[in-house]
Amino acid sequence: MKHSPWNWINPELTELQTTTLLKYKAGEEQLSALFGLKKGFTVTKCCNRNWEKEMAPGKKGILERLNAGEVVIGDGGFVFALEKRGYVKAGPWTPESAVTHPEAVRQLHREFLRAGANVMQTFTFYASDDKLENRGQNLKLTGVQINEAACDLAREVANEGDALVAGGVCQTPSYLSCKSETEVKAIFKKQLDVFLKKNVDFLIAEYFEHVEEAEWAVKVLKTSGKPVAACMCIGPDGDMHGISPGECAVRLVKAGAQIVGVNCHFDPMTCVKAVKMMKEGVEKAGLKAHYMVQPLAYHTPDCSCQGFIDLPEFPFALEPRILTRWDMHKYAREAYKSGIRFIGGCCGFEPYHIRAVAEELAPERGIMPPGSEKHGMWGAGLEMHTKPWVRARSRREYWENLSPASGRPKCPSLSTPEGWGVTKGHSDLMQHKEATSSQEMKHLLEMQKKAKSTA
Ligand SMILES: [Zn+2]
Repeated sequence: MKHSPWNWINPELTELQTTTLLKYKAGEEQLSALFGLKKGFTVTKCCNRNWEKEMAPGKKGILERLNAGEVVIGDGGFVFALEKRGYVKAGPWTPESAVTHPEAVRQLHREFLRAGANVMQTFTFYASDDKLENRGQNLKLTGVQINEAACDLAREVANEGDALVAGGVCQTPSYLSCKSETEVKAIFKKQLDVFLKKNVDFLIAEYFEHVEEAEWAVKVLKTSGKPVAACMCIGPDGDMHGISPGECAVRLVKAGAQIVGVNCHFDPMTCVKAVKMMKEGVEKAGLKAHYMVQPLAYHTPDCSCQGFIDLPEFPFALEPRILTRWDMHKYAREAYKSGIRFIGGCCGFEPYHIRAVAEELAPERGIMPPGSEKHGMWGAGLEMHTKPWVRARSRREYWENLSPASGRPKCPSLSTPEGWGVTKGHSDLMQHKEATSSQEMKHLLEMQKKAKSTA
């Protein structure tokens, strides 16, 4: 029987670790020498060495880049993109595919890198232990396993280009269920321990609806000494307790975040507006920060303060709202003009959206993304099209001024958001390990009926 090298050396050693060792740490000779060692030999020592650090020589850190006024391009949304590809379950939205389908996660990282992203965010959204066992989920994987695998994948791809690895934490079901500050902080600390072991380049606390929980996350992440970015998933109306974007930002900066902004929940222009309000708040308070924005790739002019979660189309019928690549040019320019230098995306953002951001800001960055090899600026490649009327579209003015049709004769342009007014502390938000019961479902359908009749 031919032994697979990773099982033979160490049953716990994954294919990823082995290929990474092959590529960066050990030459083939060294590895074959390792293969010659007796069964049970552990290469944990090799893996625990900070070879990640050795593997990223000469890269500028996140603050070094932002302090120099450089534009940093973030990646796009993983949960939504991988859900559509069949690797994430809508509902829990947890990132176990970092362990179960590393090839899918690695490929998406690669596509964002090729699109021009400078940051590979670890696919650790909702990878906290309390979320992984929420409402009947039975993964048989620990949070540590998922976080470790996600760090390895992000590092592997970051090393293929000019990208940094950011370890990410986000809001927890424990906070919504009114667990104590100590309990919630312990959840963040567990993820941070993995990020430190894997030596990520910086940290992002993102997707917080309540600034209080975001502050707790920042304080935990700050203990590492690594740069910390903090994003709320809020719009101009502020957090779920009505705290304005300006005040949220001031509190996050005071908690120790060097970069503040918003992600998810709202469309690009709304998010840019919220970050502008943050910037004004921070400046008014006499503080200093860098700013980031990672919005949705969906148009959300009809959303109230909870954002796209309240839209009747969330999450399975949002497609008519997707921004085009040309919308992304406008977004990137607006974000840049507003003084935001860390510009990326969240749910709905596919690699081609990030490529559009990188292309718009190519003059400022002085580089075009590798993915643009197959994409002439402003549709220039259409000059090669067989049909003359399509060749006529190979110019900026055409795409910049187009108002695309939806093709849906009965499709309304706006929806009525649900707005149940349920947030932290409400009994219907309490999380538990058991699956949602039929009694709970019955209650929810009644609530839905009531909400519809009063809308
Ligand atoms: Zn998102």
